[in-house]
Amino acid sequence: AIGFHIYRSMIKPAGRAQEELKKAAEESRKAEVIRKEFVANVSHELKTPLTSISGFIETLQQGAAEDPEIRTKFIDIIAIETSRLKRLIEDLLVLSDIENRKESADTKEFCVRDVLEKTVEALEPIAEDKDVRLIADYDEEARIYGSPDRFRQMMVNLIENAIKYSEQGGRVWVTAGITDGKTQVIVRDEGIGIAEEHLERLFERFYRVDKSRSTKAGGTGLGLSIVKHIAALFGADLKVESKAGEGSVFYVTFER
Ligand code: ADP
Repeated sequence: AIGFHIYRSMIKPAGRAQEELKKAAEESRKAEVIRKEFVANVSHELKTPLTSISGFIETLQQGAAEDPEIRTKFIDIIAIETSRLKRLIEDLLVLSDIENRKESADTKEFCVRDVLEKTVEALEPIAEDKDVRLIADYDEEARIYGSPDRFRQMMVNLIENAIKYSEQGGRVWVTAGITDGKTQVIVRDEGIGIAEEHLERLFERFYRVDKSRSTKAGGTGLGLSIVKHIAALFGADLKVESKAGEGSVFYVTFER
């Protein structure tokens, strides 16, 4: 059999073998560029809040702590930056967990409504803070196969974004139904929307349309890349429709 393989590779046209090698080298070069970019991004994202935290601590140590008003203000900033760091690390852990463990232990068939009900309830306080109304409508027949916990994670990210990028007093719709025999979950908002030129890159890690707005709203820039990964694990189709100023609609369609 070995002889046969050698024979086969010998008769393979040299041009084609070389082309395949070139393609593989090109792909691994691209993967390396993406990896390096990711590490650089992560380092930057971690460093920014840390620099701010250590700066404010130093200023407090140098005497600013004596003024109670300044002290409160600085400690508040330190608390905000600390929770930003925490969220970022949590999101990075989720991403790495998804990439390393494709199959989670809780994989089963489950009712979409059961998970969505709890998820929306848990997000109600965040919505209330912004005076955003969450409107839910679930078909109780909608069932999917996979990890309920990952499904929940994906929905939290989409619904949190819908709230985050809504104006005060806006509405967010979360619906689950069955279309053409497939379970479909839709998260719709009437918030700031996304201009067409951003849609293509939206699901990339750390891609944000407006970085300062995302940061102010507590974003990490990883939410949608987590959504994309989880949708892929479910074999689900992920689609977004949006226009700047007119709100956004995210569709997740599951193969049944
Ligand atoms: P972030 O933590 O910044 O929200 P995401 O990965 O969740 O990161 O989203 C990437 C970017 O996509 C956001 O920074 C924002 O610009 C845009 N975006 C996501 N969801 C929405 C939405 N519902 N409405 C408007 N823009 C959105």
